[in-house]
Amino acid sequence: MTKIWKCTICGRYTLSNERCPSCGGPVKTPHPPNINLQDKYINTIVKLRREMRWKQT
Ligand SMILES: [Zn+2]
Repeated sequence: MTKIWKCTICGRYTLSNERCPSCGGPVKTPHPPNINLQDKYINTIVKLRREMRWKQT
């Protein structure tokens, strides 16, 4: 499963496990989402994947 990370500085979600693409801050694994947030969590991953695909083309 794709891991998602969250910047500890600006709170942006990212697929990078090294640093935040927005502000360069350190990232950490966010708390596991509960069932109510599962859909939102997955939508965030899909959105990030779309952004990455656009950058590659
Ligand atoms: Zn950041």
